Amino acid sequence: MKLLEGRNAIVTGGAQGIGRATALMLAEHGARVVVADLDERTAQAVVDGLPQGGAAVRCDVRDPDDARAAVAACQDLGSVDVVVNNAGITRDATLRKLTMADWDAVLDVHLKGAFLMSQAAAAVMREQGRGAIVNISSISGKVGMIGQANYSAAKAGMVGLTKATAKELAHRGVRVNAVQPGLIRTAMTEALRQDVWDQKMSEIPMGRAGEPEEVAKVVLFLASDLSSYLTGTVLEVTGGRFM
Ligand code: NAP
Repeated sequence: MKLLEGRNAIVTGGAQGIGRATALMLAEHGARVVVADLDERTAQAVVDGLPQGGAAVRCDVRDPDDARAAVAACQDLGSVDVVVNNAGITRDATLRKLTMADWDAVLDVHLKGAFLMSQAAAAVMREQGRGAIVNISSISGKVGMIGQANYSAAKAGMVGLTKATAKELAHRGVRVNAVQPGLIRTAMTEALRQDVWDQKMSEIPMGRAGEPEEVAKVVLFLASDLSSYLTGTVLEVTGGRFM
């Protein structure tokens, strides 16, 4: 019996990077996956490669109607067992230069997006008496990063969201946990300047960046019954950075 046999999952921002690796990991362990992303064509390409199939939905997590539509697409598969709030962007600038537009953009995608998806999914999970929500925060939300006041605030906010919703939903059989990845090789980090990359590498006790699959494996753990007695926790996937 596979870990997620017969379960249905939603992964936001699942068209690439950590989200794509997560969709593939959950599917490999038996889940059918709704890949919800701004880019429906790339999301469909991911779904086409999943063993049990699933659905691709064009979803802007900032839009409550899109969030509800993603949940409805998962209900069409039979249930809403797992939601991974992974969609994300960066708009880095120091406080001196950070615009309100870039503040709002980052807070909206990460924090408002995770709230809207959690609200839409929890309405179904409460009635099912079962569910797991996994919020992809960041180690930036634990330590704060220079040039990332917006991102660090959003990712710290996701920890508060995780703990509050974990407490609200625990008695209905719904668990909520968060993951804080460190430096992971994706399009988001490929854009980093070499000197910034080198500085980050020097902070990692394990001496290497992580791969998207190494985050996905931890999401699988939190999404499955392997973590049946965990809720409101934050797992750091950082190679020991900022432990
Ligand atoms: P990525 O490769 O840039 O992927 C992010 C995905 O989110 C993209 O497919 C993007 O779609 C989608 N997205 C952006 N805005 C969206 C919206 N409003 N609605 C729906 N989807 C949206 O990034 P990644 O590195 O895999 O990051 C995934 C998550 O991990 C993010 O939350 C990020 O903050 C977090 N994280 C990453 C790292 C790292 O080192 N990479 C470290 C810590 C935390 P489009 O491309 O179509 O816009």
